Amino acid sequence: TLSDRLTSVFSSLRGKGRLSEEDINATAREIRLALLEADVALPVVREFIAQIKERARGEEVSKALNPAQQVIKIVNEELIEILGGQTREIRFAKNPPTVIMLAGLQGAGKTTLAGKLAKWLAAQRNTPLLVAADLQRPNAVTQLQVMGQRAGVPVYAPQPGNGVGDPVEVARDSIAHAQRNNHNIVIIDTAGRLGVDTEMMQQAADIRDAVSPDEILFVVDAMIGQDAVNTAQAFLDGVGYDAVALTKLDGDARGGAALSIRHITGRPIMFASTGEKLEDFDLFHPDRMASRILDMGDVLTLIEQAQRTFDEAEVEKMASTIASDDDFTLEDFLQQMMMIRRLGPIGNLLGMMPGMGQMRDQINNVDDKDLDRIAAIIRSMTPAERANPKIINGSRRLRIANGSGTQVSDVNGLVTRFFEAQKMLRQMKNGGLPGMPGMPGM
Ligand code: GDP
Ligand code: MG
Repeated sequence: TLSDRLTSVFSSLRGKGRLSEEDINATAREIRLALLEADVALPVVREFIAQIKERARGEEVSKALNPAQQVIKIVNEELIEILGGQTREIRFAKNPPTVIMLAGLQGAGKTTLAGKLAKWLAAQRNTPLLVAADLQRPNAVTQLQVMGQRAGVPVYAPQPGNGVGDPVEVARDSIAHAQRNNHNIVIIDTAGRLGVDTEMMQQAADIRDAVSPDEILFVVDAMIGQDAVNTAQAFLDGVGYDAVALTKLDGDARGGAALSIRHITGRPIMFASTGEKLEDFDLFHPDRMASRILDMGDVLTLIEQAQRTFDEAEVEKMASTIASDDDFTLEDFLQQMMMIRRLGPIGNLLGMMPGMGQMRDQINNVDDKDLDRIAAIIRSMTPAERANPKIINGSRRLRIANGSGTQVSDVNGLVTRFFEAQKMLRQMKNGGLPGMPGMPGM
């Protein structure tokens, strides 16, 4: 992953005071590979890297960050910028209904997205209407009806028994239906084919001409990787669209498609779909996608937060405890947890650190209430017990539980967790700690 690669670049750069041409090239090479691995199209990668290098060369040397961190910061900022900077909002029509039309290949996730969007809009006091204008496959209408039912949003569809029906006519009629029934938004689901073909494009274009949508959303599966660019271009030429909805981001796609589509078509990405359930849906957040593409967690936020919150001396002390040969004690454990808590939501924080996967999984299971309980338990121990938890036998556990107002099982859980953390730290020390940029000694 990029974080692994950059860790090695970091270590070779550490200690240098200034951004040299070699530093820039070395970091750029790793970023280039990471982008290609994330399925970003080659021409986009080339242009992007050229831009990064240029900016890095012109950058003032920062006092707060080392050279590699500085390059990463630039990459992150440029990625966010190229991904659209800010989240794009729906443009509502002056005279309702606002018409939103979905277009995209079959299987892209249009029908699912229609349901998600309907539910999301309804939750914001809108009165959407779903329109079944995919009459290509026999069960397409039923599928949309199921979505509508789950979203609690009515579906406009041709009456059964009237033959297949004409999707253009259905779309057109749905507007009048929406006006009559006070729906302020109409979401039109359309047909797609497995590959781009002219008949499908024509049908989508005919629907577009019949209803003059306020927003045409191109729905695209993030998993299709490099192909996304061609498909996006074909739909841009064939139907045109105002914005993009990216689906299946719950898969292992890195989201390079987002970067390529945005860059090549110039259309903003508006929505992100992350699962089969209606709730797995959100506005698209360029900053989150940038982190995902880089697969490094939000390293910069971490660095910044750490610099703000930690006092330098405390960091040194913690780092030397971790690095020292003395065994990690319950006292250290408590202090570390308190420090982590001060840094913000626990899960968040550790999720940001590259190479800290194991630790993150451990700590992710700890919430604030747990932390209070843990602190109470540790404070109910004698200094000898804290220094050497091995002596904590059954009767001591009962005493500690009573003293801290917890159950013996809580004390057991903590002791077990502590021994696990201790073991993990020993392993990390033996294997060498993964470099933590900006944190001396870590
Ligand atoms: P359409 O042909 O474009 O209308 O695509 P559908 O909405 O029917 O979706 C095709 C398949 O992808 C269905 O099995 C959906 O459940 C699934 N799907 C849609 N969106 C997502 C998503 O964001 N994540 C995952 N994992 N599956 C999705
Ligand atoms: Mg469909």
